[in-house]
This record gives sequence, structure tokens and C-alpha cells, in this order.
Amino acid sequence: MYELEAERVAEIVRERGYSRVSLQFPEGLKEHALEIARRVRRSTGAEVMVSANPCYGACDTADAQAASLGAEAVFHFGHAGMLEKTEVPVHYVEVRMHTPLRVLEDNLEVLERRVGLVTTVQHVHVLDRVAEMLRSRGFEVHVGLPGGRVRHPGQVLGCSFRCAKSIAERVDCFAYIGSGDFHPLGVALATGRRVLAFDVLTGEVRDMAEKRERFLRRRWAAVARARGARSFGIIIGEKPGQRRVGLALRLESMLESRGYEAYLLHLSEVVPDNLFAFRKLDAFVCTACPRVPIEEGSRFPKPVLTPQELEIAIGARDWESYEMDEM
Ligand code: SF4
Repeated sequence: MYELEAERVAEIVRERGYSRVSLQFPEGLKEHALEIARRVRRSTGAEVMVSANPCYGACDTADAQAASLGAEAVFHFGHAGMLEKTEVPVHYVEVRMHTPLRVLEDNLEVLERRVGLVTTVQHVHVLDRVAEMLRSRGFEVHVGLPGGRVRHPGQVLGCSFRCAKSIAERVDCFAYIGSGDFHPLGVALATGRRVLAFDVLTGEVRDMAEKRERFLRRRWAAVARARGARSFGIIIGEKPGQRRVGLALRLESMLESRGYEAYLLHLSEVVPDNLFAFRKLDAFVCTACPRVPIEEGSRFPKPVLTPQELEIAIGARDWESYEMDEM
């Protein structure tokens, strides 16, 4: 598989006449980085650099850093295209994963009649096949259309569940094809529908209902802790696809108009060490990647809320209208 990716990259390097490029990989693919760099270098003669910084999503392109080192383009692996304006061209190289469907075929009885299909970019290539198989077994199947930062039918991102929301009214349940809990949990929260996660790595089927309840209890606890806060740090992400300055300014005015202290903090990596110096603040709200408060929140000593959770904490929104933060 990686041989193929290296050849595709080499072809583009030759076609465009690049003499220096940078390769960027998410953590799960970094182990292949050196091999791909070696192949591209050998096959094109171009200078090939590998970005060793962490990379979490298609929003997180290293174009500015690469440009500062004289690279003429970035090859960004593992995510579907997202950003259009970049300092040097960014070529997104999607990587498809082997997706065994046995876990779905063996457990069709858990599905209801009208099924919505959702997945992540690594598995989008199987959705047509899955839809055909389900239809042949009598299910009514729906797949949401892409738009905004989503490129493929049925694709969900940690910051966009629009493919799921657009068909939620027409389905009885969602079948998520992929791995991990974060994306199917997000679909359950964003749509209110039953979500069955068919894990193609572990072979398990998980109903997200209980995890959804547990998740909401955890977030309720974070909101409750922030209720007594008087001062807030408003986190603005510096990564190219996470810069929501307008939202941060709106939250700042909302806080100040209600008598709270608010400070705008911009940073690239939203991790506890980078906020240590600001520990006198009572709580934080994150306008960068929505996964930070949701998945990493418990690592921070102070509550880190999503913008919607902040609104709940200060009485500007009801808990009943809890929503996922999306971009
Ligand atoms: S903002 Fe977060 S969830 Fe969205 S693409 Fe970037 S890393 Fe992924």
C-alpha cells in the first residue's frame, strides 16, 4: 500500500518539478514516513523532509513551517483535503485501510430497518459495497452528502457530523464502520439517534447509548465545576484549520458583558503544560479542535469547555440543548 502512495507522491513531484518537499503524517502513519521519504527521494532526486511535529487532522497542515524551510510543497498523508489557501501547495494523500466487513455481516440483526451509514476517511471506499449488501438484505440505506470540511459521502470528522445530521430524520439507526468510540459517539450526540459501531479492527459491535450517557455525565461534571468560575482563558488554535478568532471574540464579549474576566490565549498545541502559566484562571474554553475538551479534558487541572458548554455554565443556554462543537 505504501509503495503505491510513494509512487503517487513521486509522480506529482516529477510533474510539478518540485525540488524540495515536506512530508507530513498523522501519528498512526508516521512509522511509514522514512520508507516513503526514501522512495520519493530515490525516484525523483528531490530533497525530501519529514515533519516530525504531531499532526492530528486535515486542519493541521505544515505549509507555513515547510515554506520557511524552503520547501515548495507539502504532502499531507492520511486525511481528506480540507484547506484551500495555504502558503505552499498542500497535496492531501488519502490512505485507505483494509476494512474487513465480517463484523457487520455477522451482526445484521442489531440494525433497524432504515440505516444511515457513517465512517471515517480511511474506510469511505467500502460504503457503496456496504450499502449494496444491506439493500440486498432488505434494509433501507441512507448516506449523507459531503459539504463544508467534509469531502466524502458518509464521512464524519471530529469537528463535523453534517453527513449524519443531514439524514438523521430519515433513519432509525446509524451504522458506523471504523474503529474507536469518538466518531460514533459524536454521531449519537449530534443526531440523537441510536448508533451501532461496527469496529473493523476489534471485530466488536458497540451500541453507543451507554457511552453517550456516560459522556454526558462527564461533561455535566466539567460544566458544573466551571459554574463557580470568575475568570476564563479563551483558547484560540493556531493550526491553519482551527483559527476561530471570530468565535473567540464573541465568547469574550459574552463573558465580559456578564461580568466575568476573559483572556484570549493563542497556541498551537493545546496541552496542559502550555496552559500551566495561566493556572490562576478558573476555567478555559477551547475554540480550537473540539476533540481537545471532549477527549483530553480530564488531563487538564482546570475545566476546559467547548463553546456550547461555556454557554451552559454561564446560564446562556440550557443543558437540554447540549450540542457538539462543530466547525
Ligand atoms: S479540528 Fe480537530 S477534529 Fe477537526 S479535522 Fe482538525 S484535528 Fe480533526
